[in-house]
Amino acid sequence: MMESSAMDFSHVYETIYELTPLSLWLCDFSGLHESIPALKEQSGGDLRGYLEQNPEVVWELSGKVQVLNINQHALRLFECERKEEFFASAESVFIPESLPLFIEQIIALARGEYFFQAESPVQTVKGRRIHIMFATRLFPELMESRTIGLSWQIDITERKAMEEALQRSNHELEQFAYVASHDLQEPLRIITSFAELLHRRFHHVLDERGAKHMSYVIDGTKRMQGLINDLLALSRLNLERRPHAPVDCSTLIDDVLQTLEVLVEERGARITRDPLPTIIAEPQRFRQVFQNLIANALKFHGEKPPQIHIGARHAGHEWILSIADNGIGIPRNQLENIFAIFKRVHSRQEYPGSGIGLAIVRKIVHQHGGRVWVESEEGKGSTFYFSVPDKQP
Ligand code: ADP
Repeated sequence: MMESSAMDFSHVYETIYELTPLSLWLCDFSGLHESIPALKEQSGGDLRGYLEQNPEVVWELSGKVQVLNINQHALRLFECERKEEFFASAESVFIPESLPLFIEQIIALARGEYFFQAESPVQTVKGRRIHIMFATRLFPELMESRTIGLSWQIDITERKAMEEALQRSNHELEQFAYVASHDLQEPLRIITSFAELLHRRFHHVLDERGAKHMSYVIDGTKRMQGLINDLLALSRLNLERRPHAPVDCSTLIDDVLQTLEVLVEERGARITRDPLPTIIAEPQRFRQVFQNLIANALKFHGEKPPQIHIGARHAGHEWILSIADNGIGIPRNQLENIFAIFKRVHSRQEYPGSGIGLAIVRKIVHQHGGRVWVESEEGKGSTFYFSVPDKQP
Protein backbone atom coordinates (compact mmCIF):
# COMPACT_ATOMS: atom_id res chain seq x y z
CA MET A 1 0.00 0.00 0.00
CA MET A 2 1.23 3.46 -0.81
CA GLU A 3 2.03 5.73 2.08
CA SER A 4 0.91 9.28 1.66
CA SER A 5 4.39 10.72 1.92
CA ALA A 6 5.84 13.16 -0.59
CA MET A 7 8.35 10.57 -1.76
CA ASP A 8 5.74 8.03 -2.74
CA PHE A 9 3.68 10.65 -4.44
CA SER A 10 6.59 11.92 -6.49
CA HIS A 11 7.04 8.41 -7.78
CA VAL A 12 3.42 8.39 -8.93
CA TYR A 13 3.57 11.69 -10.67
CA GLU A 14 6.89 10.86 -12.34
CA THR A 15 5.12 7.92 -13.93
CA ILE A 16 2.14 9.95 -15.09
CA TYR A 17 4.50 12.61 -16.28
CA GLU A 18 6.35 10.18 -18.54
CA LEU A 19 3.12 9.12 -20.17
CA THR A 20 1.29 12.31 -20.95
CA PRO A 21 2.09 15.70 -22.43
CA LEU A 22 1.90 17.83 -19.35
CA SER A 23 3.64 20.12 -17.03
CA LEU A 24 3.41 19.76 -13.33
CA TRP A 25 2.51 22.53 -10.95
CA LEU A 26 2.88 22.84 -7.27
CA CYS A 27 0.55 25.39 -5.82
CA ASP A 28 0.10 26.75 -2.38
CA PHE A 29 -3.49 27.83 -2.30
CA SER A 30 -3.87 27.78 1.45
CA GLY A 31 -3.53 31.57 1.52
CA LEU A 32 -5.96 31.91 -1.33
CA HIS A 33 -8.80 30.19 0.48
CA GLU A 34 -8.32 32.48 3.42
CA SER A 35 -7.95 35.66 1.41
CA ILE A 36 -11.01 35.19 -0.82
CA PRO A 37 -13.64 36.16 1.81
CA ALA A 38 -11.70 39.35 2.56
CA LEU A 39 -11.36 40.07 -1.15
CA LYS A 40 -15.08 39.47 -1.64
CA GLU A 41 -15.89 42.01 1.02
CA GLN A 42 -13.44 44.48 -0.43
CA SER A 43 -14.95 44.04 -3.89
CA GLY A 44 -18.51 44.72 -2.72
CA GLY A 45 -19.63 41.30 -3.96
CA ASP A 46 -18.33 41.63 -7.51
CA LEU A 47 -15.15 39.63 -7.11
CA ARG A 48 -14.73 38.99 -10.80
CA GLY A 49 -15.03 42.66 -11.72
CA TYR A 50 -12.76 43.60 -8.85
CA LEU A 51 -10.04 41.15 -9.83
CA GLU A 52 -10.29 42.21 -13.45
CA GLN A 53 -9.64 45.81 -12.51
CA ASN A 54 -6.94 44.95 -10.02
CA PRO A 55 -4.76 42.43 -11.78
CA GLU A 56 -1.94 42.92 -9.30
CA VAL A 57 -4.04 40.97 -6.81
CA VAL A 58 -4.08 38.08 -9.19
CA TRP A 59 -0.38 38.28 -9.75
CA GLU A 60 0.22 38.30 -6.07
CA LEU A 61 -1.85 35.14 -5.73
CA SER A 62 -0.40 33.55 -8.80
CA GLY A 63 3.05 34.20 -7.42
CA LYS A 64 2.40 31.21 -5.23
CA VAL A 65 2.13 28.89 -8.16
CA GLN A 66 5.39 27.14 -8.71
CA VAL A 67 6.20 25.05 -11.75
CA LEU A 68 7.87 21.85 -10.66
CA ASN A 69 8.51 20.13 -13.88
CA ILE A 70 7.81 20.40 -17.55
CA ASN A 71 8.13 17.66 -20.12
CA GLN A 72 9.58 17.68 -23.65
CA HIS A 73 6.19 18.24 -25.19
CA ALA A 74 5.59 21.37 -23.14
CA LEU A 75 9.15 22.57 -23.80
CA ARG A 76 8.54 22.39 -27.54
CA LEU A 77 5.16 24.07 -27.07
CA PHE A 78 6.69 27.05 -25.27
CA GLU A 79 9.70 27.13 -27.63
CA CYS A 80 12.50 26.61 -25.16
CA GLU A 81 15.50 24.35 -25.33
CA ARG A 82 16.02 23.66 -21.65
CA LYS A 83 13.76 23.46 -18.64
CA GLU A 84 15.67 26.24 -16.84
CA GLU A 85 14.85 28.57 -19.67
CA PHE A 86 11.15 27.96 -19.11
CA PHE A 87 11.36 28.29 -15.33
CA ALA A 88 13.14 31.63 -15.69
CA SER A 89 10.37 33.14 -17.79
CA ALA A 90 7.28 31.10 -16.87
CA GLU A 91 5.35 34.20 -15.80
CA SER A 92 5.68 35.89 -19.19
CA VAL A 93 3.59 33.18 -20.88
CA PHE A 94 0.45 34.87 -19.57
CA ILE A 95 -0.58 37.80 -21.69
CA PRO A 96 -3.24 40.39 -20.76
CA GLU A 97 -5.87 38.58 -22.85
CA SER A 98 -5.43 35.37 -20.88
CA LEU A 99 -5.86 37.20 -17.59
CA PRO A 100 -9.69 37.03 -17.33
CA LEU A 101 -9.50 33.27 -17.78
CA PHE A 102 -6.85 33.04 -15.15
CA ILE A 103 -9.07 35.05 -12.82
CA GLU A 104 -11.93 32.64 -13.46
CA GLN A 105 -9.71 29.79 -12.43
CA ILE A 106 -8.74 31.54 -9.24
CA ILE A 107 -12.40 32.13 -8.46
CA ALA A 108 -13.15 28.47 -9.24
CA LEU A 109 -10.32 27.41 -6.95
CA ALA A 110 -11.73 29.53 -4.19
CA ARG A 111 -15.04 27.74 -4.71
CA GLY A 112 -13.21 24.47 -4.19
CA GLU A 113 -13.22 23.23 -7.79
CA TYR A 114 -10.29 21.13 -8.86
CA PHE A 115 -10.61 20.71 -12.59
CA PHE A 116 -10.53 23.28 -15.37
CA GLN A 117 -10.43 23.01 -19.09
CA ALA A 118 -10.16 26.03 -21.31
CA GLU A 119 -8.61 27.62 -24.36
CA SER A 120 -6.41 30.66 -24.16
CA PRO A 121 -3.86 32.70 -26.06
CA VAL A 122 -0.43 32.61 -24.39
CA GLN A 123 3.07 33.63 -25.32
CA THR A 124 6.03 31.34 -25.87
CA VAL A 125 9.37 32.04 -24.23
CA LYS A 126 10.51 33.47 -27.59
CA GLY A 127 7.60 35.92 -27.46
CA ARG A 128 5.48 34.24 -30.14
CA ARG A 129 1.74 34.24 -29.53
CA ILE A 130 0.07 30.85 -29.67
CA HIS A 131 -3.31 29.47 -28.73
CA ILE A 132 -3.43 26.52 -26.39
CA MET A 133 -6.07 24.23 -25.01
CA PHE A 134 -5.33 23.03 -21.52
CA ALA A 135 -6.79 20.87 -18.84
CA THR A 136 -5.64 21.19 -15.27
CA ARG A 137 -6.42 18.82 -12.45
CA LEU A 138 -5.49 19.63 -8.88
CA PHE A 139 -4.88 16.96 -6.29
CA PRO A 140 -5.35 18.67 -2.93
CA GLU A 141 -5.76 15.36 -1.15
CA LEU A 142 -2.28 14.19 -1.96
CA MET A 143 -0.32 16.67 0.11
CA GLU A 144 -1.21 18.28 3.31
CA SER A 145 -0.30 21.92 2.97
CA ARG A 146 0.10 22.20 -0.75
CA THR A 147 -1.81 21.28 -3.83
CA ILE A 148 -0.35 19.32 -6.70
CA GLY A 149 -1.70 20.02 -10.16
CA LEU A 150 -1.13 18.38 -13.47
CA SER A 151 -1.64 20.51 -16.52
CA TRP A 152 -1.96 19.11 -20.00
CA GLN A 153 -1.61 21.46 -22.95
CA ILE A 154 -1.87 21.27 -26.71
CA ASP A 155 -1.23 23.88 -29.37
CA ILE A 156 -4.42 24.77 -31.23
CA THR A 157 -3.10 27.91 -32.98
CA GLU A 158 -3.80 26.48 -36.43
CA ARG A 159 -7.29 25.33 -35.51
CA LYS A 160 -8.00 28.77 -34.03
CA ALA A 161 -6.80 30.52 -37.22
CA MET A 162 -9.04 28.23 -39.28
CA GLU A 163 -12.00 28.94 -37.03
CA GLU A 164 -11.45 32.68 -37.44
CA ALA A 165 -11.13 32.37 -41.22
CA LEU A 166 -14.31 30.29 -41.28
CA GLN A 167 -16.12 32.87 -39.19
CA ARG A 168 -15.01 35.62 -41.58
CA SER A 169 -16.13 33.69 -44.63
CA ASN A 170 -19.42 32.77 -42.95
CA HIS A 171 -20.00 36.42 -42.25
CA GLU A 172 -19.27 37.30 -45.88
CA LEU A 173 -21.66 34.58 -47.02
CA GLU A 174 -24.36 35.88 -44.70
CA GLN A 175 -23.89 39.38 -46.10
CA PHE A 176 -24.03 37.97 -49.61
CA ALA A 177 -27.24 36.03 -48.88
CA TYR A 178 -28.81 39.17 -47.47
CA VAL A 179 -27.84 41.44 -50.38
CA ALA A 180 -28.73 38.82 -52.99
CA SER A 181 -32.14 38.00 -51.51
CA HIS A 182 -32.91 41.66 -50.95
CA ASP A 183 -31.97 42.69 -54.49
CA LEU A 184 -33.72 39.72 -56.09
CA GLN A 185 -37.05 40.84 -54.65
CA GLU A 186 -37.54 43.76 -57.02
CA PRO A 187 -37.11 41.97 -60.41
CA LEU A 188 -39.16 39.06 -59.05
CA ARG A 189 -41.95 41.41 -58.08
CA ILE A 190 -42.02 42.73 -61.68
CA ILE A 191 -42.11 39.20 -63.14
CA THR A 192 -44.90 38.16 -60.75
CA SER A 193 -47.11 41.17 -61.36
CA PHE A 194 -46.76 41.02 -65.13
CA ALA A 195 -47.31 37.27 -65.23
CA GLU A 196 -50.52 37.77 -63.25
CA LEU A 197 -51.54 40.65 -65.48
CA LEU A 198 -50.96 38.53 -68.61
CA HIS A 199 -52.97 35.72 -67.07
CA ARG A 200 -55.88 38.00 -66.16
CA ARG A 201 -56.05 39.91 -69.42
CA PHE A 202 -55.15 37.25 -71.95
CA HIS A 203 -56.16 33.92 -70.55
CA HIS A 204 -59.06 33.78 -73.04
CA VAL A 205 -56.73 33.97 -76.03
CA LEU A 206 -54.46 31.20 -74.70
CA ASP A 207 -55.22 27.59 -75.52
CA GLU A 208 -55.25 24.93 -72.82
CA ARG A 209 -51.49 24.30 -73.01
CA GLY A 210 -50.73 28.00 -72.98
CA ALA A 211 -52.89 28.50 -69.87
CA LYS A 212 -51.16 25.57 -68.15
CA HIS A 213 -47.71 27.01 -68.92
CA MET A 214 -48.85 30.35 -67.60
CA SER A 215 -50.00 28.77 -64.33
CA TYR A 216 -46.55 27.11 -63.98
CA VAL A 217 -44.91 30.52 -64.33
CA ILE A 218 -47.16 31.99 -61.63
CA ASP A 219 -46.64 29.05 -59.27
CA GLY A 220 -42.88 29.25 -59.77
CA THR A 221 -42.75 32.96 -59.02
CA LYS A 222 -44.83 32.47 -55.86
CA ARG A 223 -42.53 29.72 -54.65
CA MET A 224 -39.51 31.84 -55.37
CA GLN A 225 -41.03 34.75 -53.48
CA GLY A 226 -41.54 32.47 -50.47
CA LEU A 227 -37.95 31.24 -50.69
CA ILE A 228 -36.53 34.73 -50.96
CA ASN A 229 -38.62 35.97 -48.03
CA ASP A 230 -37.43 33.08 -45.85
CA LEU A 231 -33.82 33.53 -46.94
CA LEU A 232 -34.06 37.21 -46.14
CA ALA A 233 -35.54 36.41 -42.72
CA LEU A 234 -32.65 34.01 -42.04
CA SER A 235 -29.93 36.45 -43.06
CA ARG A 236 -31.58 39.29 -41.12
CA LEU A 237 -31.09 37.22 -37.97
CA ASN A 238 -27.36 37.69 -38.31
CA LEU A 239 -27.39 41.34 -39.18
CA GLU A 240 -29.94 42.75 -36.77
CA ARG A 241 -29.88 41.95 -33.07
CA ARG A 242 -32.72 43.11 -30.88
CA PRO A 243 -32.88 43.72 -27.13
CA HIS A 244 -33.77 40.87 -24.77
CA ALA A 245 -36.81 41.19 -22.53
CA PRO A 246 -38.87 38.93 -20.26
CA VAL A 247 -41.06 36.77 -22.49
CA ASP A 248 -44.05 34.95 -21.05
CA CYS A 249 -44.13 31.82 -23.22
CA SER A 250 -47.79 31.25 -22.46
CA THR A 251 -48.83 34.63 -23.89
CA LEU A 252 -46.50 34.07 -26.81
CA ILE A 253 -48.17 30.74 -27.62
CA ASP A 254 -51.65 32.34 -27.39
CA ASP A 255 -50.47 34.87 -29.91
CA VAL A 256 -48.96 32.25 -32.24
CA LEU A 257 -52.10 30.11 -32.06
CA GLN A 258 -54.18 33.10 -33.03
CA THR A 259 -52.06 33.53 -36.17
CA LEU A 260 -52.42 29.82 -36.94
CA GLU A 261 -56.12 29.71 -36.03
CA VAL A 262 -57.42 28.86 -39.52
CA LEU A 263 -54.90 26.03 -39.92
CA VAL A 264 -55.73 24.66 -36.45
CA GLU A 265 -59.42 24.61 -37.26
CA GLU A 266 -59.00 23.19 -40.75
CA ARG A 267 -56.93 20.31 -39.43
CA GLY A 268 -59.11 19.76 -36.34
CA ALA A 269 -55.98 19.96 -34.21
CA ARG A 270 -55.97 19.53 -30.43
CA ILE A 271 -53.29 21.54 -28.68
CA THR A 272 -52.35 21.08 -25.03
CA ARG A 273 -49.59 22.64 -22.94
CA ASP A 274 -47.70 22.44 -19.65
CA PRO A 275 -47.46 25.54 -17.48
CA LEU A 276 -44.94 27.58 -19.43
CA PRO A 277 -42.13 29.74 -18.02
CA THR A 278 -41.13 33.34 -18.52
CA ILE A 279 -37.75 33.47 -20.21
CA ILE A 280 -35.35 36.23 -21.16
CA ALA A 281 -35.15 36.47 -24.93
CA GLU A 282 -35.73 38.54 -28.04
CA PRO A 283 -39.57 38.36 -28.03
CA GLN A 284 -40.22 38.51 -31.79
CA ARG A 285 -37.53 35.94 -32.48
CA PHE A 286 -38.88 33.50 -29.93
CA ARG A 287 -42.33 33.95 -31.32
CA GLN A 288 -40.86 32.88 -34.65
CA VAL A 289 -39.34 29.74 -33.07
CA PHE A 290 -42.71 28.65 -31.65
CA GLN A 291 -44.55 29.59 -34.80
CA ASN A 292 -42.25 27.60 -37.10
CA LEU A 293 -42.33 24.51 -34.87
CA ILE A 294 -46.09 24.56 -34.29
CA ALA A 295 -46.79 25.25 -37.98
CA ASN A 296 -44.65 22.23 -38.88
CA ALA A 297 -46.46 20.08 -36.31
CA LEU A 298 -49.73 21.07 -37.99
CA LYS A 299 -48.36 20.64 -41.49
CA PHE A 300 -46.69 17.23 -41.25
CA HIS A 301 -49.76 15.45 -39.87
CA GLY A 302 -50.73 11.88 -40.63
CA GLU A 303 -54.19 10.34 -41.06
CA LYS A 304 -55.40 11.36 -37.62
CA PRO A 305 -56.09 14.99 -36.65
CA PRO A 306 -52.95 16.60 -35.18
CA GLN A 307 -52.43 16.28 -31.43
CA ILE A 308 -49.80 18.74 -30.32
CA HIS A 309 -48.34 19.15 -26.86
CA ILE A 310 -46.15 22.06 -25.81
CA GLY A 311 -43.99 20.99 -22.89
CA ALA A 312 -41.60 22.74 -20.51
CA ARG A 313 -39.27 21.44 -17.86
CA HIS A 314 -36.51 22.97 -15.84
CA ALA A 315 -33.15 21.19 -15.83
CA GLY A 316 -29.95 22.55 -14.31
CA HIS A 317 -29.60 26.15 -15.45
CA GLU A 318 -31.97 25.96 -18.36
CA TRP A 319 -35.51 25.52 -19.54
CA ILE A 320 -36.20 22.76 -22.01
CA LEU A 321 -39.21 23.46 -24.17
CA SER A 322 -40.73 20.92 -26.50
CA ILE A 323 -43.32 20.66 -29.26
CA ALA A 324 -44.58 17.11 -29.70
CA ASP A 325 -46.86 15.94 -32.52
CA ASN A 326 -48.46 12.69 -33.66
CA GLY A 327 -47.63 13.33 -37.32
CA ILE A 328 -45.78 11.43 -40.04
CA GLY A 329 -42.42 11.51 -38.26
CA ILE A 330 -38.93 11.75 -39.75
CA PRO A 331 -36.72 8.89 -40.94
CA ARG A 332 -33.96 8.12 -38.42
CA ASN A 333 -31.13 8.82 -40.89
CA GLN A 334 -32.46 12.33 -41.57
CA LEU A 335 -32.77 13.51 -37.99
CA GLU A 336 -29.35 15.18 -37.98
CA ASN A 337 -29.84 16.95 -41.30
CA ILE A 338 -33.22 18.56 -41.09
CA PHE A 339 -31.99 21.73 -39.39
CA ALA A 340 -29.75 22.53 -42.38
CA ILE A 341 -30.90 25.21 -44.76
CA PHE A 342 -33.02 23.97 -47.73
CA LYS A 343 -33.10 20.46 -46.27
CA ARG A 344 -36.49 18.82 -46.81
CA VAL A 345 -37.41 15.22 -46.25
CA HIS A 346 -40.96 15.08 -47.55
CA SER A 347 -42.17 15.89 -51.05
CA ARG A 348 -42.95 19.48 -52.02
CA GLN A 349 -46.20 18.41 -53.73
CA GLU A 350 -47.58 16.93 -50.53
CA TYR A 351 -46.05 19.35 -48.05
CA PRO A 352 -45.13 22.74 -49.53
CA GLY A 353 -42.33 24.69 -47.92
CA SER A 354 -38.90 26.24 -48.38
CA GLY A 355 -36.78 24.12 -46.05
CA ILE A 356 -35.64 27.25 -44.17
CA GLY A 357 -38.01 27.18 -41.16
CA LEU A 358 -35.89 24.87 -39.02
CA ALA A 359 -32.64 26.64 -40.02
CA ILE A 360 -34.25 29.84 -38.64
CA VAL A 361 -35.26 28.02 -35.44
CA ARG A 362 -31.72 26.68 -34.94
CA LYS A 363 -30.12 30.07 -35.58
CA ILE A 364 -32.38 31.86 -33.09
CA VAL A 365 -31.93 29.22 -30.39
CA HIS A 366 -28.14 29.27 -30.83
CA GLN A 367 -28.11 33.06 -30.67
CA HIS A 368 -29.82 32.74 -27.28
CA GLY A 369 -27.19 30.29 -26.04
CA GLY A 370 -29.44 27.21 -26.31
CA ARG A 371 -29.48 23.89 -28.20
CA VAL A 372 -32.07 22.35 -30.45
CA TRP A 373 -32.72 18.68 -31.28
CA VAL A 374 -35.43 16.31 -32.37
CA GLU A 375 -36.66 12.84 -31.51
CA SER A 376 -38.94 11.10 -33.93
CA GLU A 377 -40.37 7.81 -35.08
CA GLU A 378 -41.72 7.41 -38.59
CA GLY A 379 -45.48 7.10 -38.61
CA LYS A 380 -45.79 7.95 -34.93
CA GLY A 381 -44.72 11.55 -34.53
CA SER A 382 -41.89 13.93 -33.69
CA THR A 383 -40.84 15.97 -30.69
CA PHE A 384 -38.71 19.05 -31.24
CA TYR A 385 -36.79 20.26 -28.20
CA PHE A 386 -34.92 23.47 -27.54
CA SER A 387 -33.21 24.82 -24.48
CA VAL A 388 -32.97 28.39 -23.17
CA PRO A 389 -30.54 29.42 -20.43
CA ASP A 390 -32.49 30.19 -17.30
CA LYS A 391 -31.85 33.85 -16.58
CA GLN A 392 -34.09 35.31 -13.93
CA PRO A 393 -36.39 38.05 -15.20
P1 ADP B 1 -40.33 23.37 -44.53
O1 ADP B 1 -41.34 23.09 -43.49
O2 ADP B 1 -40.47 24.69 -45.17
O3 ADP B 1 -40.14 22.25 -45.52
P2 ADP B 1 -38.44 23.26 -42.35
O4 ADP B 1 -37.02 23.74 -42.30
O5 ADP B 1 -39.41 23.84 -41.39
O6 ADP B 1 -38.89 23.47 -43.83
O7 ADP B 1 -38.42 21.69 -42.15
C1 ADP B 1 -37.48 20.89 -42.88
C2 ADP B 1 -38.00 19.50 -43.10
O8 ADP B 1 -38.05 18.79 -41.86
C3 ADP B 1 -39.43 19.44 -43.61
O9 ADP B 1 -39.48 19.58 -45.01
C4 ADP B 1 -39.89 18.09 -43.14
O10 ADP B 1 -39.44 17.10 -44.06
C5 ADP B 1 -39.15 17.90 -41.83
N1 ADP B 1 -40.02 18.28 -40.67
C6 ADP B 1 -40.01 19.44 -39.97
N2 ADP B 1 -40.92 19.42 -38.96
C7 ADP B 1 -41.49 18.20 -39.00
C8 ADP B 1 -42.50 17.54 -38.21
N3 ADP B 1 -43.09 18.15 -37.17
N4 ADP B 1 -42.84 16.28 -38.56
C9 ADP B 1 -42.25 15.66 -39.61
N5 ADP B 1 -41.30 16.22 -40.40
C10 ADP B 1 -40.92 17.47 -40.10
